[in-house]
Amino acid sequence: DTVTVDFGSKEKADQVFAAALKSGYNLRRVNDTQVAAAFHETSAYEDLVDLCRAFTGKDTFTFADDVKGRLNAELLRQDNILQHPVFNRYHTEHEMLRYLKKLEDRDLAMNRSMISLGSCTMKLNATAEMLPITWAEFTDIHPYAPETQTAGYRELLTDMENSLKAITGFDAISFQPNSGAQGEYSGMLSIRRYQEAQGEAHRNICLIPKSAHGTNPATAAMLGLKVVVVDTDERGNVNIDDLKAKAEQHRDALSAIMITYPSTHGVYEEGIRDICHIIHENGGQVYMDGANLNAQIGIMQPAEVGADVLHMNLHKTFCIPHGGGGPGVGPIGLKAHLAPFAPGHALTDTHSASADQTAVAAAAYGSASILPITWMYLTMMGKQGMEQATRWALLNANYVAKRLSEDYPILYTGKNGRVAHECIVDLRPLKAESGITETDIAKRLMDYGFHAPTVSFPVAGTLMIEPTESESKAELDRFIAALKQIKQEVLKVERGEWPKEDNPLINAPHTASDVTGEWAHPYSREEAVFPLPFVREHKFWPSVKRVDEVYGDRNLVCSCLPIDAYED
Ligand SMILES: *Cc1c(COP(=O)(O)O)cnc(C)c1O
Repeated sequence: DTVTVDFGSKEKADQVFAAALKSGYNLRRVNDTQVAAAFHETSAYEDLVDLCRAFTGKDTFTFADDVKGRLNAELLRQDNILQHPVFNRYHTEHEMLRYLKKLEDRDLAMNRSMISLGSCTMKLNATAEMLPITWAEFTDIHPYAPETQTAGYRELLTDMENSLKAITGFDAISFQPNSGAQGEYSGMLSIRRYQEAQGEAHRNICLIPKSAHGTNPATAAMLGLKVVVVDTDERGNVNIDDLKAKAEQHRDALSAIMITYPSTHGVYEEGIRDICHIIHENGGQVYMDGANLNAQIGIMQPAEVGADVLHMNLHKTFCIPHGGGGPGVGPIGLKAHLAPFAPGHALTDTHSASADQTAVAAAAYGSASILPITWMYLTMMGKQGMEQATRWALLNANYVAKRLSEDYPILYTGKNGRVAHECIVDLRPLKAESGITETDIAKRLMDYGFHAPTVSFPVAGTLMIEPTESESKAELDRFIAALKQIKQEVLKVERGEWPKEDNPLINAPHTASDVTGEWAHPYSREEAVFPLPFVREHKFWPSVKRVDEVYGDRNLVCSCLPIDAYED
């Protein structure tokens, strides 16, 4: 999509660049004599004429041939496009709207009920936060636009940088990483480059506690580090003795620890300061996974506790919607000694790439166009609001944990019996007694109108629940009631009142067609689809029954036209 022209002299290239700019076009300086123009699907014949004026310096000129609307015939597609009926079925706006609504209704989403996915922080993505990203002032700016045209964007970035510094206590922020995992990579890369600059490039051991998110060891492996796993204790905390032993054993080659705080076990690591101290004592750096920052803001600062670098998930804690694969923003905060090693970028103010530029993304400020969401959140909440949100998130998680502990063991708690912003519900004892699995319970929740929590992560056979501050007590109570009722259903199976091979749990979820026609199950249709009174109020009808777990992942089924339709 990009055409580069070499003008043979800097003077001429400057001229063309200036002339294009004057008529409203941003060209890119590739080097002193070369200028590049990028085109996209909305570039028109008129743009070409304007550019030719800038390139030739003439007002009128003729093209060698009639270029208007002409493309190389060999490259023109001859067959019909978009043949699938879905592209040809909807010809009125009403029909299109209803089609989109139909698809939406098949999704058990946040606009229906809470999504309690642990470690995902499925909080409110407020409409007021979302509105600005539809404005052309934000969406129509090219990531490589010259700084003279992006004063507003840079003001927004500086504002957010200051807020995030105040929240985390770090000295510098980089907005370049496009996800949490990429933030990890950028942060760990900063550590690696710092250590190289110190003449310690040989440091290649990365300690990672057992409770870590899977992205942590993946990041370490991508950087060529050797992962050494640290044990956790019966409370879910890092085993400090094991950590100390391993840090000392590897002290000559220790690069870093990657530690999540609060941990993905849903507890505040009580020894976090000691952990950071032990790593520093043994020559390593502390990478803190800050995806769980929702449990810290306004209460404590990761930098103050001892972290050297941390990533934040703006698409968790800071309201950018996520799920379904992005887009994400995973900025990192760095202490002063690591700041010079943050991701650089060849195309910021100048056109010259420095030899050691270490960009981790194509754009200097990553997914900048969605940053207004976070800016709105920070601005509308303010310092006090953010702190209050943290406290509500903790209160909600502890309320859910406490109420559910009457029916299910909560796997890990701190020494006061409290959790952080999420809790792990242990289903293994129930499974051992009844044969009902965590999957059955997750599917059954759909009949109650709820999306499943995080299943079997970070501990197999458990559910991890993070309610966030955004849910009301009424919604939490409905969710709790559903899980309590499910416990009663499991007990019926356990007691033999419902057969193991035919009960609402293993048959879940129930579709509308399941409950029409003949009914031969030992439980009623009402028990199947209206298991609690509140479910009648706003029934979610799953559109498909259970698909054999991994079968779909291992056996891709194409819903396109049959293959012979593509013949010839
Ligand atoms: C979500 C998460 C990540 C990864 O973030 P992505 O944006 O999904 O790459 C890393 N660590 C923890 C603890 C997380 O919850």
